[in-house]
Amino acid sequence: MREDAPINWVPAIIFSSTFLIAITAVPLYGFLVGYDWVEIVTCIVMVAFCGFSITGGYHRLWSHRAYDANPLVRAFFAFWGACALQNTILIWCSGHRRHHRHVDDVDKDPYSIKRGFWFAHIGWMLRNYKSSDVDLANTQDLQRDKIVMFQHKYYVPLVVASNIGVPVALGILNGDVLGMLLLAGVLRLVISHHVTFFINSLCHTWGKQPYTSTNTAKDNFFLALVTYGEGYHNFHHYFQTDYRNGVRWWQFDPTKWMIASLSWIGMTSNLKRVPSFKIQEALVHMQFEKAHKQLNLSRLPTPNVEALRQTLESEYQQFSKTLADWKELHGQWVQQKRQEFEEKKQELQEKWQQATVRTRFLEMEYNLKMQRKRLQMFSLNFATAHSS
Ligand SMILES: [Zn+2]
Ligand SMILES: [Zn+2]
Repeated sequence: MREDAPINWVPAIIFSSTFLIAITAVPLYGFLVGYDWVEIVTCIVMVAFCGFSITGGYHRLWSHRAYDANPLVRAFFAFWGACALQNTILIWCSGHRRHHRHVDDVDKDPYSIKRGFWFAHIGWMLRNYKSSDVDLANTQDLQRDKIVMFQHKYYVPLVVASNIGVPVALGILNGDVLGMLLLAGVLRLVISHHVTFFINSLCHTWGKQPYTSTNTAKDNFFLALVTYGEGYHNFHHYFQTDYRNGVRWWQFDPTKWMIASLSWIGMTSNLKRVPSFKIQEALVHMQFEKAHKQLNLSRLPTPNVEALRQTLESEYQQFSKTLADWKELHGQWVQQKRQEFEEKKQELQEKWQQATVRTRFLEMEYNLKMQRKRLQMFSLNFATAHSS
């Protein structure tokens, strides 16, 4: 760690000047001259374009390879990602991959929350910290993407074209260049910046940990609302290759909906999902952790605690057995798939076998779901016993 690192002037000037203009000149101009609906709608649309290009493009497509996208989609993300002014795809992804690999490490995670909220939010970009040194060795796969390399090479012209060129052109068409520049240029940039920076700061500070407690990432519905669905960060850190962050169908994740909708018209493909059994496994595992903590902190009479401990122990044995069964069946299934591929067995037989295996997988998933319910009751009863 080197807290006295030299100031990184370009981002420091951009962040502070745009922020100052956004809180002074933008409202003042609105008060004195006013903004029309074209400027307001353009600002909103550009906030969304920049936001989705970071979450859907920079993050889920390029950093995690959670799906594939056709060149049109990638070009869109590359252009509006440059407009979001968060560095090139290559540099952003390199840092983000390090963030996942060394999450919370004060020396290796470029935006470790362990160095404070401000540091994780924006401070890490304001000075030349050693933890932010660029090493593109972990982006060799991305260096084969022509669009990524084009954006990397022509980043500055793209930044100028999208941040100044687009608002100026639209301002000329609409008859007020300054108004458009203030709203769709400056205010849009400041909103887009801080909303996405929340993912590194607030999403590692505020929320629940239903899937893992091995790092600081949190799941938070309110943050999902402003971060295009990235608020389910606890899930994301545990299952980073899944194209969904809000994994349940009802969880607010517009980035997931965008990727899925584009797949219906063939513009995205190969959407990766972790098996739902694995998700259940993580949830149940965390419930055991919680129950054990409750037991250890318990002030109940010893015989009661012992009885509860035994219940928990037998639940855990069952959990381990379900996991072992799943692993075995999954291994067999993979092997069989390979054989079928080689031998090209009769389609009918394949279908029959697949149906049986699928039923067994579903049974195991059901076992875990039931176990989750029992553990929920366990925790609830425990809390009631304590309060009475
Ligand atoms: Zn990520
Ligand atoms: Zn994170």
